[in-house]
Amino acid sequence: MTTPGGRTAFLDRDGTINREQSFITHPDQLVLLPGVVEALHRLAAADVRIVIVTNQSGIARGLYTQTGLARVHETLHQRLDRLPLAYLHCPHHPDFDGPYGGPCTCRKPAAGLLHEAEGLLDVSFEDGLLVGDSARDLLMAKDLPLRTVHVRSGKPFAAEAEKLAAAGFTADHVADDLATAVDWYLGR
Ligand SMILES: [Mg+2]
Ligand SMILES: [Zn+2]
Repeated sequence: MTTPGGRTAFLDRDGTINREQSFITHPDQLVLLPGVVEALHRLAAADVRIVIVTNQSGIARGLYTQTGLARVHETLHQRLDRLPLAYLHCPHHPDFDGPYGGPCTCRKPAAGLLHEAEGLLDVSFEDGLLVGDSARDLLMAKDLPLRTVHVRSGKPFAAEAEKLAAAGFTADHVADDLATAVDWYLGR
């Protein structure tokens, strides 16, 4: 049972939770970034629910299957001390054919995964947190009352910051990594 009105942190996966690499096809490729598990414990101790939201177009590209991704997330969940409430992903890519090809409403920067979380988990966006290393992670929050943190722990920071500026978006905060993003959020 979740508590309505509680706070939720929506976290990107690659480059935020685990080391950024082009595609993770096997659990052995997961390398957690420093301080992540402890940061999730601090969120949980403050009654902030944790939801992972991630673009996984490797499925549309045929690099791995839904089952393969579920296996990666099973391992990730164990390594994260089972703290996240859910792992929501977009398997699509507009430039590919097949069952996961074509346009969709869940590939970031669209906000589909956030609305999916709202529908499935009874979470609210009010006073919530969104953390990501790429412009499209942050842009998904542009019409929602989430505090956004751009972390430097993944994709090259300057290029992503430029994309944000081009879109007229300013993150609420910039942090080196998830651990310091959580310090900022909980310490406000
Ligand atoms: Mg990322
Ligand atoms: Zn999608």
